Amino acid sequence: MTEGYKQGFDIKKFGEEFKNTIDWMLRNKYAENITKHLQDFKTDKNSLEINPESTDALYEIIELIATKGYRLKRNNEFKKRLSNFIGSYGANFRSEDARKKMIELVGEKATKNVNILLEYKTIKEFTESLYNSAKKGETFVLGEKGRDEYLRDFGYWDRIPIDRHEMRFIIRSGIYHACSFKDKSDHLEINHLHDVLTQFCTQYLKGYVAEDIELGEAPGIADIFIWSFCAEYNICGSTPKCNECNLNGACLYALTNSP
Ligand code: SF4
Repeated sequence: MTEGYKQGFDIKKFGEEFKNTIDWMLRNKYAENITKHLQDFKTDKNSLEINPESTDALYEIIELIATKGYRLKRNNEFKKRLSNFIGSYGANFRSEDARKKMIELVGEKATKNVNILLEYKTIKEFTESLYNSAKKGETFVLGEKGRDEYLRDFGYWDRIPIDRHEMRFIIRSGIYHACSFKDKSDHLEINHLHDVLTQFCTQYLKGYVAEDIELGEAPGIADIFIWSFCAEYNICGSTPKCNECNLNGACLYALTNSP
């Protein structure tokens, strides 16, 4: 353990500074984007609750199958074809013709995934089954990241889509060191990082509310702040900009590396 850790790291203080940083993000350049994400999470959750065959949910599943979980990378031409598909078939997406079109969209190699999806009576049933698998550390149809992104977006706010942004932040900040479990202490295991961040939110964001969502109970929603901080604000990116960071008086990496 380093001197910096011994001298100053305090997870409670970090938790308080993290909440202040969320407030700062909600006043700054990407506040509108973040607020839009939070509103979309609520809308999508309602969409699947109201309609078990939600085509909004279907849209995202197809997009995530086609992009292997990296839907932001898909080009506009693909999005247009997908929107046309949803517009043409709507609630009739289970017809044989629609199934073939769906396979064209995701590619022949993903035929099996489309067939598994359509075996479920409703999209809601598929989603619940996927959620139960996620809790056991398993997945089907979607990869781990895509699974958690889809589940988080459509109302399962305890699921966190972990990618390299979250991985860096959880490990550098000290969240990992303070909140890891004896039997879940492999920082290369996505499932372990998922549980560590959940633990941090439960303990240190309890009672903190953003857009009517209690972040202590919704680590998947808290995640959007970490993602924006690292990717959009680009403060804790591949090269951390600790001098510009609100967390530098509390973060383990900054404390350890300060002169
Ligand atoms: S102080 Fe540095 S390492 Fe810590 S969160 Fe900020 S940018 Fe990242």
